[in-house]
Amino acid sequence: MVTIRYAEGKGWYDARVEARGPIPMDPASAVLHYGQEIFEGLKAYALADGGVGLFRPQANAQRFVTSAERMSMATLPEGLFLGAVKELVKADRQWIPTSTEGSLYLRPFQYASEAFLGVRPSQEYLFVVIASPVGAYFAKGVKPVTIWVSSDFTRAAPGGTGAAKCGGNYAASLAAQAQATEHGCDQSVFLDAVERKYIDELGGMNIFFVLDDGSLVTPALNGSILPGITRDSLIKLAEASGRTVTERPVSIDEWRVGSLSGRIVEAFACGTAAVLTPIGTVRSHDGEFTVGDGGTGPITAELRQSLMDIQWGRAEDPFGWTVRV
Ligand SMILES: *Cc1c(COP(=O)(O)O)cnc(C)c1O
Repeated sequence: MVTIRYAEGKGWYDARVEARGPIPMDPASAVLHYGQEIFEGLKAYALADGGVGLFRPQANAQRFVTSAERMSMATLPEGLFLGAVKELVKADRQWIPTSTEGSLYLRPFQYASEAFLGVRPSQEYLFVVIASPVGAYFAKGVKPVTIWVSSDFTRAAPGGTGAAKCGGNYAASLAAQAQATEHGCDQSVFLDAVERKYIDELGGMNIFFVLDDGSLVTPALNGSILPGITRDSLIKLAEASGRTVTERPVSIDEWRVGSLSGRIVEAFACGTAAVLTPIGTVRSHDGEFTVGDGGTGPITAELRQSLMDIQWGRAEDPFGWTVRV
């Protein structure tokens, strides 16, 4: 693991790459009480030509700064973030799976480490990167998920922390996830916190809709949606292949009516872990509906393949997204 310490007045210091192990922690560590914690998720890929690549790691480094700012935490310079990730990938080179769709998942995170029981920003932080080999997200092939529309809980509100990648957002999403499971669903989708009408995103993935004219629609970044790097990459990829992508609010009614009328033909969730996950069925207290024929739509499959081909170095990388280690 990589660790780098921070102290007010001293800056970032004591950067190390060492064997992964427990981190001693004072019980008054600020993170345990008032929750200043942020994280990132990215992957290192064994490229088709034998090299190793990271996918848009600068975007993770930038988002880490934005998340830190929102949580009033010390910001880690982007160069240090990238250096830390690269050093760990070099040290763990042998752990990068070469299986199809396998990768080394990297988890950078930062927390308030000052021993202090008071409500103010911590003056000490610990930045850590850990890694783990992961296999194909869908071990038995891509399978559409059933999702639960959370009407009892919201994930993030305007002015809140929805756009920051912080652990607290995930803690807030777990009650909805438990309801999803109770109703036989794989994931829950969150509506906006004000009108309880517009689709924000899933607990940890952004969402896209494919219309019958081949265009795509995704909820506009409204402050409570996490700006996904997969989301951004798919917008650019789809536009480069001639598709129109519109970022605008999409209501749950539009989704239901559109699915029934045939205007909305596919829907998928996206994020680093699963890349693209087709959404087959949508269930709520009011009943359920199917998107398209409930299977994996052709445009979902095509986008998934194009993005993964770039990530694993099987296709050209016209956007210069891959950073070699
Ligand atoms: C990380 C995350 C995503 C996906 O972001 P990627 O950069 O595409 O992995 C979407 N929603 C939430 C809430 C997230 O935390």
